[in-house]
Amino acid sequence: MKKLEQLYEGKAKKVFATDDEDILIVDYKDDATAFNGLKKGTIYGKGVINNKMSNFMCKMMEAKGIPTHFIEELSDRETAVRKVQIVPLEVIIRNKAAGSMAKRLGLEEGMQLLCPVLEFSYKDDALGDPMINDSHALACGFATQEEIDTIRNMALKINEIMCEYFAGKNIELIDFKLEFGRYKGKIILADEISPDTCRFWDMTTHEKLDKDRFRRDLGSVEEAYQEISKRLGL
Ligand code: C5P
Repeated sequence: MKKLEQLYEGKAKKVFATDDEDILIVDYKDDATAFNGLKKGTIYGKGVINNKMSNFMCKMMEAKGIPTHFIEELSDRETAVRKVQIVPLEVIIRNKAAGSMAKRLGLEEGMQLLCPVLEFSYKDDALGDPMINDSHALACGFATQEEIDTIRNMALKINEIMCEYFAGKNIELIDFKLEFGRYKGKIILADEISPDTCRFWDMTTHEKLDKDRFRRDLGSVEEAYQEISKRLGL
């Protein structure tokens, strides 16, 4: 497979075409942004960790029957993935209140939720990814009812798999974001799963081991990513 021209450069990744029209190459960067791009910085070594961790998580999901875009890790930062038509929804799953949900509803961060919460946001940087519900997604044509049902079921199953796996590493999965794509008529998981997109707390100390250390200027940002990488044996 040959790497061809760059198609897109996002906040944390570059995407390249290949000589196979069904395959793209994702290149993970160390650049970090928060608050819809208002805060910018570098988390040294993050690209390598996010690449390896996302691939590790995709392989875990595939083994549990959840289709993903993952094809092959090509280097420390580069991975070949299936080219999808992205569903323009950010799917957020929450097990404990934190971040925007804690703020919006006036909840204490870390409050146990009685069941997982699933939120949809419309993927649009210019609008700041506004939260929407199923009926907005349907009415605006972002996804069909069947796709929404599939996405919800897959997201909840991914949450169960991840909660169990991370608990075994003494890590609590507080919340995370997923994205899905359409590939040959099927919905597949089509984005990274990393400390950029998940909130991970140490189960014993409740120390934050994710991008909140960057967002909130908590220090030891690189160390948190490395700690996750170490516990996962990446
Ligand atoms: O900010 P908020 O509390 O809504 O984030 C919920 C979860 O979704 C967090 O784990 C965060 O890292 C992730 N997220 C993301 N990309 C976004 C928004 C949220 O990865 N654009």
